[in-house]
Amino acid sequence: MDYEKFFSDSIADLKSEGRYRIFCDLERKAGEFPRALNHRPNGEVHEITVWCSNDYMGMGQNEHTLSAMHEAIDKCGAGAGGTRNISGTNHYHVLLEQELADLHGKESALIFNSGWMANMTALSTLGAMIPGCVIVSDSHNHNSMIEGIRHSRAEKKIFKHNDVEDLDRFLSQYDVDTPKLVAFESVYSMDGDIAPIKEICDVADKHNAMTFLDEVHAVGMYGPRGGGVAERDGLMDRITIVQGTLAKAFGVVGGYIAGSDAMCDFIRSNGSGFIFSSSIPPGVAAAAKASIKHLKEHNELRERHQERAATLKRRLTEVGIPVMPSVSHIVPVLVGDAVLCKQASDDLLLKHDIYVQPINYPTVARGTERLRFTPTPLHTDEHMDHLVTSIREVWNRLGLKEAA
Ligand SMILES: *Cc1c(COP(=O)(O)O)cnc(C)c1O
Repeated sequence: MDYEKFFSDSIADLKSEGRYRIFCDLERKAGEFPRALNHRPNGEVHEITVWCSNDYMGMGQNEHTLSAMHEAIDKCGAGAGGTRNISGTNHYHVLLEQELADLHGKESALIFNSGWMANMTALSTLGAMIPGCVIVSDSHNHNSMIEGIRHSRAEKKIFKHNDVEDLDRFLSQYDVDTPKLVAFESVYSMDGDIAPIKEICDVADKHNAMTFLDEVHAVGMYGPRGGGVAERDGLMDRITIVQGTLAKAFGVVGGYIAGSDAMCDFIRSNGSGFIFSSSIPPGVAAAAKASIKHLKEHNELRERHQERAATLKRRLTEVGIPVMPSVSHIVPVLVGDAVLCKQASDDLLLKHDIYVQPINYPTVARGTERLRFTPTPLHTDEHMDHLVTSIREVWNRLGLKEAA
């Protein structure tokens, strides 16, 4: 086999289908978020405004996050020095797990190297080790849940997105004694819609099923202390396993689950993605803990975040830009064509120094290609003025779809 030809042919296919990803080379500037430097292929460096970061609250540059990281590095050094079992449990890991358990009102929490690994490991371990377990999964679930479920080899059913009746229909096919797990998200990050958590928990309870809730796009941002949508809606005790990330609103990196002592101990003792991977650096754990604590105590940041999102939706709609319906902090704008979506993004970057990544198939369905804006508490009215004027110009230049 001509291996090199195989690789390059495969890449050529991606390019011809408009699915080839080009990374935007950024140099973040601590303390100036959402401003950053953009290194361009021609060697130029431009100062730009980032409009699509998942550092939703700007905590990646918050002074408390940074000073906690500096302090832990000075005290403990760079790496953790091992897997959790073999010399890699640092005191900062223990403190972070306590902070997370408290955030979600659970007995225990368990840290992973990423949110992706938390989902993958927890779901694959539960599905593989609970005898006869059936996993019922929302059709819009994230890749990390899909991979975890697939890897578990458990029987899998996919219910229509946010459709409680469809979920009920699937769960009704099984005896009440059959072990079942319902896997879903709170905020879905591409459309910005939110699951009917209470109704899903009611149906799960009726059929004696466990609930597994990915709150990756909600932790730090919803609920009076940032515990997520389940906290906002007073439903934390209805969730068997909550999963989250330290890399989005908390601004650092890493993932976790929280739940009962026995459940966390079970994953700790059996989950290969937890056992066989070196733990996150102490500095990262310290920074994440400081960030979580800061957001617990600063609900005004969440209020400002929601206000910024509502204001951006309103201002774009006022000038005829087709904002897709969203009940969260996510502001998706419909383009509806892969090539035009990429062009709009390129135009905003190259002509207006505004960075928003195009979102194309397979991340979203064909025909729903979009630009996904994520305003943060640090995006000012001036940043918004510039965005609204620029996007209007791009829409005119490319003749893109107007709001209905
Ligand atoms: C980003 C994401 C993850 C993975 O989290 P990381 O910490 O980035 O690995 C899991 N679930 C959802 C819904 C996500 O969007």
